[in-house]
Amino acid sequence: MERIQKYLAQKLRLFDSSEKVLREPSITGIIDYIKENENCKIITMAGAGISTSAGIPDFRSPSSGLYHNLAKYNLPHPQAIFELDFFMENPEPFFMLAKELLPEGFKPTPSHYFIRLLWEKGLLLRHYTQNIDTLERMAGLPPEKLVEAHGTFHTGRCLKCRAPYTLPWMKEKIIEGVIPKCEECNEGVVKPDIVLFGEMLPERFHYLTDRDFAQADLLIIMGSSLVVQPFASLVDRVRSDCPRLLINKEKVGMQDRLSRFLGLRQGLIFDERSGRDVAWIGACDAGCQLLADELGWGDELKDLIKKEHERLDAENTKKN
Ligand SMILES: [Zn+2]
Repeated sequence: MERIQKYLAQKLRLFDSSEKVLREPSITGIIDYIKENENCKIITMAGAGISTSAGIPDFRSPSSGLYHNLAKYNLPHPQAIFELDFFMENPEPFFMLAKELLPEGFKPTPSHYFIRLLWEKGLLLRHYTQNIDTLERMAGLPPEKLVEAHGTFHTGRCLKCRAPYTLPWMKEKIIEGVIPKCEECNEGVVKPDIVLFGEMLPERFHYLTDRDFAQADLLIIMGSSLVVQPFASLVDRVRSDCPRLLINKEKVGMQDRLSRFLGLRQGLIFDERSGRDVAWIGACDAGCQLLADELGWGDELKDLIKKEHERLDAENTKKN
């Protein structure tokens, strides 16, 4: 087996001779690395785990309770609600679910504000999110720093004439329990710009991943189970000397055995073979606060959260 691996390594140059890029493969190693790289270009990747502490249910999970009200629609399977074909036939269940998911009264979490702080410190190359809850925008991250890989509720479009609509416009209809119909062509259904199964990911996703990942000096993955493609495989797009930190409740996205045998660059490697991958197991907010503390921004992060939450509370009081 060793001989085969050696042969493959020579012939195919598949094996990384990855030098140790971190002094130690631990959170301390990552913190030292950030401190020592003055213009460290960081990419953050996030999934539902950064929004759960805001009270947003993980809507893709049938156990979230959101699906209970849908029995009367006779869905062929629960995920059908997020399939384009089904939506074209019957958009009603989707909008019923949307009513419960609409970003209303939710506030961004410490993880969101940590990402904003990375941006303010000039360290954020880009934030890639699987979330459609718009909390990154609400946390004050500028749209140019943000890639909403699975789309967003922030805007919508008529499926027939492509006329654009805003979140407040769609929200009004959805809360009334009316299916939003286009006011331009009077025919099409207005669909929020979230990516349904069967739809292409936004062009911005493809364009920017090609550009960003090769440049990154550090990748931080938070609260994603790294199963939905192509998002999950973005972790393989950084250079082989780019450290990768996973902040999550469990280890995910690991290299499988075949790839390991072949020495393919696929998946995260949390053992001594890798000099660059670190898993920090716990809640995203705690991991982010720990990083901020160790980088000397701990109080700044707490102040930012307090100030921004007060501002959002005041806005909500004004509205109601
Ligand atoms: Zn239309």
